Amino acid sequence: MEETYCQSCGMPLSADPRGGGTEADGRRNRKYCSHCYQRGRFPDGYTSAREMQRFLRKKLKEQGFGPLKRWFLTRHIPTLERWRS
Ligand SMILES: [Zn+2]
Repeated sequence: MEETYCQSCGMPLSADPRGGGTEADGRRNRKYCSHCYQRGRFPDGYTSAREMQRFLRKKLKEQGFGPLKRWFLTRHIPTLERWRS
């Protein structure tokens, strides 16, 4: 099976305990994870990839990831669908 990644934060959807976000009508959304996309909207309110990267790098730091790993895990964020407009 092909791995799908959240098109907002880059997390593999297989790592999402809920398996994806939710639409306004409660349907499962498989483009975004359950953290980024809830009931048809983005609760974080971020408008740029940079904001998401900053948030994720802080989180990764809390989890003990070093600077190189933090950069590596977040460098592709601007290429994800949510930020490409
Ligand atoms: Zn996400």
